[in-house]
Amino acid sequence: MRAMVLEHPGEPVRAATLPDPTPGPGQLLLEVAACAVCRTDLHLRDGEIDAPKLPVVLGHQIVGRTEDGRRYGVPWLGFTDGTCHYCRTGRENLCVNAQFTGRDIDGGYAELTVADERFCLPLPDGLPDEQLAPLLCGGLIGYRALRMTGDAERLGLYGFGSAAHQICQVAVHQGRTVFAFTRPGDGRTQQFAKSLGAAWAGGSDEAPPEAMDAAIIFASAGPLVPAALTQLAPGGTVVCAGIHMSDIPSFPYDDLWGERSIRSVANLTREDGHEFLALAPEVPVRTTITTYPLAQAEQALADLRAGAFEGAAVLLP
Ligand SMILES: [Zn+2]
Ligand SMILES: [Zn+2]
Repeated sequence: MRAMVLEHPGEPVRAATLPDPTPGPGQLLLEVAACAVCRTDLHLRDGEIDAPKLPVVLGHQIVGRTEDGRRYGVPWLGFTDGTCHYCRTGRENLCVNAQFTGRDIDGGYAELTVADERFCLPLPDGLPDEQLAPLLCGGLIGYRALRMTGDAERLGLYGFGSAAHQICQVAVHQGRTVFAFTRPGDGRTQQFAKSLGAAWAGGSDEAPPEAMDAAIIFASAGPLVPAALTQLAPGGTVVCAGIHMSDIPSFPYDDLWGERSIRSVANLTREDGHEFLALAPEVPVRTTITTYPLAQAEQALADLRAGAFEGAAVLLP
């Protein structure tokens, strides 16, 4: 099969011909119809997070079909032991022996993939493969982050890419008021956010029209954490939704005082997946995508790094 492989972090992913994967016990062999590109793929490619298995086929937002035509989504969480303290307490996202798709297990930048059936998610009917793919990480983990904001009415989204453009639609559907923060001067993305229901959009260096009850940070710039904190009402929460972030600068304790909090969100549980995939068609979440042929995976990653498109990039093998 054809695949795009990461061999050396810091260097481009390259085209390779690999043996067709063989499903083991409990695994499904899937023909990859679409695989969305996640910022985590970019962090692996750039060596900002560890890639323990090299070479590796990146990609963990996979829409694939079995030989008998069943359609599944394969997300980031690829395996858990089911026995550790976290698994036994409903927090399999923190499993100490977790394996992640496109990092520990070869992923979806390929024509074929195998996945543990227990971690594959049935997908809602009626949406094309390429529209569904970005739901499988940006959507799922974004939704987990949104849940961590509780009943926050005034919600800030920092970094308006694949996850935020989906979560903006969900939050508006839930009756929340969304403030979208982009790179300063990025009027195009600010317009995009408003078109999806954001009540206000501006640069990350600007103040929203009102104090916020929560903010979710999807971008990987640590200085956004204290910036968001200063825009929170008392009792507010900053949720960091990415797997990697540059260092967070120090800030005065006064900014945290008033029962404000900062927390991270790690990975997903299967329950998050089922819940979000049931909710998405109700909203309905409509993804904005830019498609690339599989062979242009490196270009898709470069365009993500440069902020060259709105919404999500999707590879079509
Ligand atoms: Zn576990
Ligand atoms: Zn991801």
